Amino acid sequence: MKKHQMLIAGKWVDPAGGEWFESLNPFTGAAWALVPRGGKEDVDLAVAAAKAAYEGPWRKLTASARGDLLRKFAELVAAEADKLAEIETTDNGKLIAEMRGQLKYVPQWFHYFGGLADKVEGRVIPIDKPGVFNFTREEPLGVVVAITPWNSPLLLATWKLAPALAAGNTVVWKPSEFSSVSAFAFAQLFERAGFPPGVVNVITGYGNEVGEPLITHRDVAKVAFTGGDRTGEHVYQLAAKGIKRITLELGGKSANIVFDDADIDEAVKGVVSGIFAATGQTCIAGSRALIHRSIHDKFVEKLLALAKTARMGNPLDANTQVGPITTQPQYQKVLDYIRIANEEGAVCRLGGGPASRPECGSGWFIEPTIFTGVKPQMRIAQEEVFGPVLSIIPFDDEEEAIRVANGTVYGLAAGVWTTSIRRALMMAERLEAGTVWVNTYRAVSYMSPFGGYKRSGIGRESGIDAIREYLQTKSVWIDIAGSAPNPFVMR
Ligand code: NAD
Repeated sequence: MKKHQMLIAGKWVDPAGGEWFESLNPFTGAAWALVPRGGKEDVDLAVAAAKAAYEGPWRKLTASARGDLLRKFAELVAAEADKLAEIETTDNGKLIAEMRGQLKYVPQWFHYFGGLADKVEGRVIPIDKPGVFNFTREEPLGVVVAITPWNSPLLLATWKLAPALAAGNTVVWKPSEFSSVSAFAFAQLFERAGFPPGVVNVITGYGNEVGEPLITHRDVAKVAFTGGDRTGEHVYQLAAKGIKRITLELGGKSANIVFDDADIDEAVKGVVSGIFAATGQTCIAGSRALIHRSIHDKFVEKLLALAKTARMGNPLDANTQVGPITTQPQYQKVLDYIRIANEEGAVCRLGGGPASRPECGSGWFIEPTIFTGVKPQMRIAQEEVFGPVLSIIPFDDEEEAIRVANGTVYGLAAGVWTTSIRRALMMAERLEAGTVWVNTYRAVSYMSPFGGYKRSGIGRESGIDAIREYLQTKSVWIDIAGSAPNPFVMR
């Protein structure tokens, strides 16, 4: 079993506390790697390294040179994509087909933000005062902390690292304790691309032992966090104490809304892809299917027929369609929600418990599960499960669909299935969600802003909006009149 090290100031180092913990393969349940258990001492060293790099070599590079490094890094990731995907699947149990797809996308973000690095421009403001020249500069923030979850480790880290580095910041990245191993292989590529030491640092460990001292460190300017909303709330409070800038990408309870004028077969595929494609372990899971009452029964029959065909098994097998749950606590949490849904009176139409198929080995598998008869206020319809559990809620008209869809604390994404342009545009306007898909689901791009309304988050990742999250504006005033104004009056 490989004993990994952390990357601090360009050197691979053991944790100061001398402790490691096991990373488990969710398909076999067996330990397969040893991950350093970082602590406050490591945090101090990593932040100091990031600060020194920010004030030293990184700041001295031109924006174009930063862009070149990001693009070089993109090429290296592209060459290693299959290897990185295999590490991710072994570590977090998500399908190899999904992780290969994600790793093919990752270079796009580094190319895009590499291209943006030298297009960050200030403005000249035509100030309405005589004798002054005013312009703005867009400047980096300093040391950025990136904290990421286990479900899409490298893609979600990329969404932070690419814009943060393009904007001229340096980074300390803490991956999830459940899926840290790909971070080590990824970080080696920053070295190979030629990034100065300390520009990207990786420290691993638990949220309270590494995450908290990172967030509260006085030399950290910004926290970019992806994870659950309860953790996000805590992270927000900690960051508030130091008045740190923050981006929060949190959970969701997204509605996939199917109207009676939709292409039903396409909508069935869309609903399945929304909830079962990543074993439901995606922030944008379409975990509530809102189905127009007139097509409800027909839709459910077709949905059950398709969901029943899902091939479960080894996530490293490219033909597998539903893999294991990534962590044991998460496995337990999903089973708890299935119990709660039954107790609340929802009707279990498919699955409803652990999968004991031989192809599932000793992994933490749960059968694709579908509940009908779900009422909008039930916990199963309000809380994020983060597993392969779908709640079906019937509706009678557009107003009811909007009310139910918007009736949770979350607002990450929504899907609308309709052939009416009027309805598509009207729904896109009225849904309280950072992303609305019409007649498709789970599409993302480096070009399009992504983020949450309401409790699903603050700030945007991807697209031009994302780089602004890592910049601050300075206003510069220059006197061009040459005569001193009255010093006792505001100019
Ligand atoms: P989590 O909140 O448990 O952990 C996320 C990260 O926060 C991990 O690195 C963890 O170690 C760290 N952390 C935990 N406690 C901390 C603390 N006290 N201080 C600082 N850091 C701490 O989330 P998870 O279970 O790893 O991931 C699943 C969650 O992430 C789901 O809720 C999902 O919806 C959300 N998610 C959101 C998006 C998005 O873009 N909106 C994307 C993927 C996942």
